[in-house]
Amino acid sequence: MIVTGCLGAKDGVVQSAHPTVLAVTGPHDTAGVMTAVHAHLPKPHDPYTDLVPAQGVKLTPQHYAYLKISEGCNHRCTFCIIPSMRGDLVSRPIAEVMQEAENLVKAGVKELLVISQDTSAYGVDVKYRTGFVGGKPVKTRMTDLCRALGELGVWVRLHYVYPYPHVDEVIPLMAEGKILPYLDVPFQHAAPRVLKLMKRPASAEKVLERLQRWREICPDITVRSTFIVGFPGETEAEFSQLLQFLQEAQLDRVGCFAYSPVEGAVANELPDAVPEEVKTARKEKFMLTQAKISAQKLKRKIGQTVEVLVDEPGIGRSSADAPEIDGVVHFKGGKPGEFRDVTIDRADEHDLYGRLV
Ligand code: SF4
Repeated sequence: MIVTGCLGAKDGVVQSAHPTVLAVTGPHDTAGVMTAVHAHLPKPHDPYTDLVPAQGVKLTPQHYAYLKISEGCNHRCTFCIIPSMRGDLVSRPIAEVMQEAENLVKAGVKELLVISQDTSAYGVDVKYRTGFVGGKPVKTRMTDLCRALGELGVWVRLHYVYPYPHVDEVIPLMAEGKILPYLDVPFQHAAPRVLKLMKRPASAEKVLERLQRWREICPDITVRSTFIVGFPGETEAEFSQLLQFLQEAQLDRVGCFAYSPVEGAVANELPDAVPEEVKTARKEKFMLTQAKISAQKLKRKIGQTVEVLVDEPGIGRSSADAPEIDGVVHFKGGKPGEFRDVTIDRADEHDLYGRLV
C-alpha cells in the first residue's frame, strides 16, 4: 500500500496511524509514487512497454478516467484545510487539458470525469485566457471546456462544481446531450447562519429556485450534493431547516458527513461544538430522510430504458451514477467498457435492476 495526497505532505501523520504502508508521498508526486512502486515492485526492463504511453499513467479501469483541470482553491471554507495545503487556484492551460482528454479518448476511455477543488472557477486565475485547441481559440473557462469536451463523443461528467451563477450556462449543454446531465454541487448546508459560519455562499431559497430552473431546462438532470451535519453551533432548528431543504430540493444523490475537526481548520475555533452522539444521530436522520427520497426517485425509473456504461459483467452505470460514490445498475451480461441499453425492472434506495435490451 502506497499512500499519496494532501495528508502525505504532513510528516509522519499517515505513518503513525498506519505503520505498515510502504511509502507516503505528498500530492502530485507522481515521481515519488513511481519511485516507491519501482522500489517495491521492480519491473523487468522492456524497451517497448517502458515508454510511457501518450495517455499517461492511469490508475482507473480502462474505460473511464479522471481529468484534473486545476489545483488549489480561492475559497476559504472554515472546515477545510485544502487551500492551506495546496494554495490558491491554478488552472491548467485549456490546450493541455484538451490534449490529455483527446489522448485518453484515443486510448479507449469512454467517460471523462472532470475534477478539481473548484471546477466552476476554472480559468479565473488566468483571466479566462484564450488557448488553442485544434487550431481554434478556446477560452480557459468551464463552459468553453465543457463545450470542447462535448465534441469528443464520450461521456463527460462534472464534479465539484461550486454553485456560481455561471454554472447555469452548462445546463443547456446537458439538455443538448453534449455532456452528461449530471452535476455534483456540494451545498454543505441550508441554514443561512451555518452557511455563513462555513463561509459558503448561496442561500437555500436561491438554490431551490436554481434547481427548479435547471430541471426546467434539463428534466433528466441528476444533481448530487454533499452536506455536513453537526457543524459547530448548528442548532436543532438549523438541522431541521436542513432536513426541510432536503425534502424540497429532492436531490438525486446525496453524501453526508458528520463534522470532524480537521487539524488546522478555522471552524475548530468556533464555539458550541456539537457532541459526537448528537452528530451521529443527526447524520443517521439525514441519511434516512434522503434514503426515502432516493428510493422514490429511483422507483420512477422502473419501466424506462437507460443507457449504461458497463463496468464489469452484470454491473454498469447510467448518466446518474458516478463511479464509486453513486449507485449502479445491475443486469445479466455485458462487457466492460460497452455502452448498453437496460430496461429497468426494479429499484431500491441506491441501485437499479434490469435486463439488457
Ligand atoms: S471546501 Fe472546497 S471550495 Fe471550500 S475551501 Fe475547501 S476546496 Fe475550496
